[in-house]
Amino acid sequence: MAQRQSYEDGAKQSPDVDFRALIECSSDVILQFSRELQLVYVSPSVTDMLGWSQSEVYDNWIDVICDADREKLFASGRKLANGVSGSDRLSFQVTRKDGALVWVEGASHVLQNGDEAIRGIVVTLRDISVQKDLEEKLEELARTDSLTGLANRRTFDEILQREWAIARREGHPLSLIKADLDHFKKLNDQYGHHSGDECLQAIGQLLSTTARRPADVVARYGGEEFALVLPNTHAQGAQTLAAYLQKAVEDLNIPNEGNPDHGARVTASFGVATIRWPSDRTAIDYDRNHSDLLKAADSALYAAKSSGRNTCCSTLLQISTTA
Ligand code: GH3
Ligand code: MG
Ligand code: MG
Repeated sequence: MAQRQSYEDGAKQSPDVDFRALIECSSDVILQFSRELQLVYVSPSVTDMLGWSQSEVYDNWIDVICDADREKLFASGRKLANGVSGSDRLSFQVTRKDGALVWVEGASHVLQNGDEAIRGIVVTLRDISVQKDLEEKLEELARTDSLTGLANRRTFDEILQREWAIARREGHPLSLIKADLDHFKKLNDQYGHHSGDECLQAIGQLLSTTARRPADVVARYGGEEFALVLPNTHAQGAQTLAAYLQKAVEDLNIPNEGNPDHGARVTASFGVATIRWPSDRTAIDYDRNHSDLLKAADSALYAAKSSGRNTCCSTLLQISTTA
């Protein structure tokens, strides 16, 4: 285990170094625990960071740690106190005096005597809430389509996979709608890419304001293709929604002269697929998965395109070993 420089070593090299001032002026919070994990010191910066006075922390330091993180911190503390590891670094949340939760990073190091016996643990806490906020924003960006603000394909695939598992466990229906704009290439060619982008934004807005149940998710699946996952929704409900959307897209009245068969305005074709679980749960085919539902919706969409566009086709996906 690496030997850390002691107070005496440092003081010998620079007799003017005031270690207490260094600790008390640090914006990080420095804590020292005994080997039995009793708090023996907390630096005054805890009041700036969390609003608690030092004496409040001495009395109630366990309560300052967010409930959900206590067990992992004690496990880390026990490993250090028992000499299983010499240092550790963990991110967790603590409670400020006003009740807000703050993300901190705690770096812990074992304190040893000259004979290497463990006598305690020093922990340095740093406020990382700004960094966490940024990470959350980046994560949100990575999950979102930048043009429409809808979920992107990656997010959609994750959600569909999760919803498939929930629907299978609960025996609930699950529907998926795929929508593809008709002759969109011609719109781009005639009116320009910028108009194409505005059209995609308007369609995205229409879909997300229409599919409004809390569990519904609307995504831009790619190019001019959208997808909606509708948990707990029977075939009839999904077909009604798709038919409503088909009409609502028409009613936006966005010009597209490349679509003369349907009023020279923007229309969309829809493919709807709904899972049908067997009533006997032992007959569920566990080899099937969410991509089967996507394929079924794609086939229905293909049928809608083949039958002249600006229409909805639907299919039932039987998930049974006897299908
Ligand atoms: P169909 O009715 O068979 O679906 O014909 P389509 O023209 O809609 O389909 P196709 O796949 O031939 O062309 C899709 C077009 O969508 C081509 C591409 O330029 C356009 N597109 C894809 N992504 C974007 C985008 O982000 N912005 C714009 N403006 N256009 C896009
Ligand atoms: Mg298209
Ligand atoms: Mg397409």
